[in-house]
Amino acid sequence: MLWKPVIGLETHIQLNTKSKLFCSCPLNDGDVPNTNVCPICLGHPGTLPVLNQQAITSAVKLALGLNGEINKKTKFDRKNYFYPDLPKAYQISQFDHPIMYQGELSIDLPNGESFTVQLERMHLEEDAAKNIHSDDGQTYVDYNRGGAPLCEIVTRPVFTSSTQAKAYLQELRTLVRTLKVSDGNLEKGQMRCDVNLSMRAVGADGVPLSPVLNPKTEVKNVNSFRAVERVIEYEIKRQTALWEAGTPPLETTTRGWNDVKQVTESQRTKENSAEYRYFPEPDLPPLDLTALILEVKRSLGELPPNKRARFVSEYGFKPEEARQIVEDPTLADFAEQSLSELGAWLEAHPNITSETMPEHRFKAMKTFVSWLLNKLPNALDTAGLHLKTARLTPENFAQFISLLVDQKLAAPKGLEVLTAMIIDGSSPTQVAETLGAGGVGDLSTLIQLAQTIATNNPKEVERYQNGEKKLLAWLVGQLMRETKGNANPELVTKAWQAVLGE
Ligand code: ZN
Ligand code: MN
Repeated sequence: MLWKPVIGLETHIQLNTKSKLFCSCPLNDGDVPNTNVCPICLGHPGTLPVLNQQAITSAVKLALGLNGEINKKTKFDRKNYFYPDLPKAYQISQFDHPIMYQGELSIDLPNGESFTVQLERMHLEEDAAKNIHSDDGQTYVDYNRGGAPLCEIVTRPVFTSSTQAKAYLQELRTLVRTLKVSDGNLEKGQMRCDVNLSMRAVGADGVPLSPVLNPKTEVKNVNSFRAVERVIEYEIKRQTALWEAGTPPLETTTRGWNDVKQVTESQRTKENSAEYRYFPEPDLPPLDLTALILEVKRSLGELPPNKRARFVSEYGFKPEEARQIVEDPTLADFAEQSLSELGAWLEAHPNITSETMPEHRFKAMKTFVSWLLNKLPNALDTAGLHLKTARLTPENFAQFISLLVDQKLAAPKGLEVLTAMIIDGSSPTQVAETLGAGGVGDLSTLIQLAQTIATNNPKEVERYQNGEKKLLAWLVGQLMRETKGNANPELVTKAWQAVLGE
């Protein structure tokens, strides 16, 4: 008998709102446990939840990004269960009127094929607190996370491999980051995934012998892409062996992933939905999302597939490069700003004519891509920084590339210069000078810098050329500033004389 897996994913995405879903406690990762708590999120009697408007806006945004059908009339429900991480003994969630009841996400597979993942639903709910199982054998509870806003997205059982499941999660992460509704950091638990998997018998042609799905195993809270892949591979092997031994799973079970042993382990079997005794939350009024949907639609912005296509057509990135860049919206914004500077530099370059432009553009782009996608991430890693926290500006990065392209900066010195730029925000010319890596000392570099300044300040140049000679001092000052005072003032004046045609 041949066996094929049927996989569905439930993903909890923590929204990046400033405060919790039903109270004003802040959501700061890494704060001292049990400091961001109040009577509402600790479930004290007599308190009332107040809905976080930003969470609703983000959920609608995400639903639209998933091309979803939205329940214009939506409401909250209580999901009752008793556990130390849930002080109210119920979770405010959504049962029969989730924000989104149907949606889809298209993914590109490594083999070049694309595949549309059908989504069952997406609902908004509050997170439970975090249980910390300590080395001393005790379990501690941190209520800082309790009440954080989560969007739970449930796929139909559409995946047949770990590759597909991983591609879906990656695309989902790119989407939430691009929409800026979540940081989507799996390591920090901002994206947590439950894997539902069962095996089914198929014929030699791979077609299932029966449309009925067998009892599934649910593996809870898997928190890395690699772990999702391993869980799937492990469950395929485990369940196939059970079927082949004639002892298949007879009911739905819950398991957890043991990352040390690299196995799934049986967990307490959770209640089914009847045992949760869902009922409408009496403390929150039903919502009408009609106006909000229209408002969010207008400001949704560019979605990842369009952005990738534009990076290929507008800038000439390869599809794989575009995928890598768009995955990190900070990097994408940085690349666009930097490329606009680099483009301006090329346009203003004294030695580039319209005939030689395409060839120069190609060369500059090649250098840009290699530094942006290979050496820059390494340099950031080494410095223990992210583009968000580093002091490197897109302008300085463009200038850095221009120095490399013009061979004003020796490539072997490049990494050292870039690292200094990342750490203290200095300009490449300044660092290159300090390191003796070639740079602002020579006239031709100064001429190029003056040319760029002239292009950016046409009015001043025109006034100078119309007789306002005292403006030369201002132009010299601009160029001195550009080189952070590292250039020889005589050479700077000479450079301007060359650029202004004197
Ligand atoms: Zn609170
Ligand atoms: Mn949930």
